[in-house]
Amino acid sequence: MKNGEKPARHWGDRTLSIHAGEERFHVGTSVGIEIARTANFTFASTEEMKRWAEGTSGAYIYTRYGNPTLRIAEKKIAALEGAEDAVVAASGSAAISSTLLALLRAGDEIIATRQLYGGSYKLLRDIFPQLAITVRLIDANLAGIEKLVGPRTRVLYVETPTNPTLRLVDLRAAARFAEEWGLVAVIDNTFATPVLQKPLAMGFHIALHSASKYLAGHSDVIAGAAAGSAALMKKVRGNMIQMGGSMDPEAAFLLVRGIKTLGVRIERQSKTAMAVAKYLAKHPKVARVHYPGLASHPDHRLAKRQMRDFGAMMAFDLKGGLDAARRFCDRVRVFLLAASLGGVESLVVLPIFTSHYKMSIEELRAASVEPGTVRMSVGLEDAEDLIEDLRQALA
Ligand SMILES: *Cc1c(COP(=O)(O)O)cnc(C)c1O
Repeated sequence: MKNGEKPARHWGDRTLSIHAGEERFHVGTSVGIEIARTANFTFASTEEMKRWAEGTSGAYIYTRYGNPTLRIAEKKIAALEGAEDAVVAASGSAAISSTLLALLRAGDEIIATRQLYGGSYKLLRDIFPQLAITVRLIDANLAGIEKLVGPRTRVLYVETPTNPTLRLVDLRAAARFAEEWGLVAVIDNTFATPVLQKPLAMGFHIALHSASKYLAGHSDVIAGAAAGSAALMKKVRGNMIQMGGSMDPEAAFLLVRGIKTLGVRIERQSKTAMAVAKYLAKHPKVARVHYPGLASHPDHRLAKRQMRDFGAMMAFDLKGGLDAARRFCDRVRVFLLAASLGGVESLVVLPIFTSHYKMSIEELRAASVEPGTVRMSVGLEDAEDLIEDLRQALA
């Protein structure tokens, strides 16, 4: 892309992920991106410094405020989400907390879906009450939301598909509700990625990411991002600079490097996941498979409406309960037994020992998690090898 040129509007996600945010049509410009491995930046004159202080200069001053390598990642994520701007952060959790704290103050209320990433749930449960922010939780189907909303409600916060049972929130319906009540609609788009789901095009205001997962995609970096209008991103960036959750340039390099292959990774991972889900659904020791690509999934039709494909996350319940689930996880050879998701390696994990540890039977039931539920992140290995591994581990 020529210096300063905007990505072409008609470009597809694969072209955007490779070219957006990069300027390299000059003679001798490196094709790979450079890491601005620096904490601070020089000024040529006190006049320039004065302009920076007045806010009329676009110059970089200090990496916590911004850095050219971070900016490439921000432009790519903004382009993929169809947003005016984006802000990258040191982790998904930093992006989430800075976004919500930029939007909420003491006395305000937030409505959030109940099945949240564990860290986000604990932020709402433990930190927000200390700040006099009231949290109201709701199921993914948003039933009864009109009873929870009030004059102090500012934000609607959702995750879809949810962890670990992959239930879906109807994004268009949620955005319409937010519009009606003047709420800022925020989604954690980590599981779907902008390749499969474009929340801003469906009326959402901010899309958040744990870029540690699919965006970076190689299980080698912790990173986060928020994308939305320039005005909202200015607020989020302001909060992030003050709270200190800025990204490191080395992490930004890995993130940009990962995003370039996002499209092909998601496409292939979704395809392999469908094959794995079909295999598991027919297996006599499996009670239930939670994968939105299967017609048996309660949100299959909604998934077809609002997602381009069904993604590579799934969960399944083993008939033998916790003992069978532990035996299975201890026997896999290609799948790794590890937390997190979204990388090139296929992973299995037991929610009962990770995201849903120490939850009561009632809380587990509300989340549709059983002691024998296994969560799976399908990677980029050969589908036949993954299925063979499942066969031997379940035998
Ligand atoms: C991992 C994850 C987070 C937290 O992101 P970090 O990068 O680990 O801080 C938030 N939301 C979802 C859905 C996640 O999977």
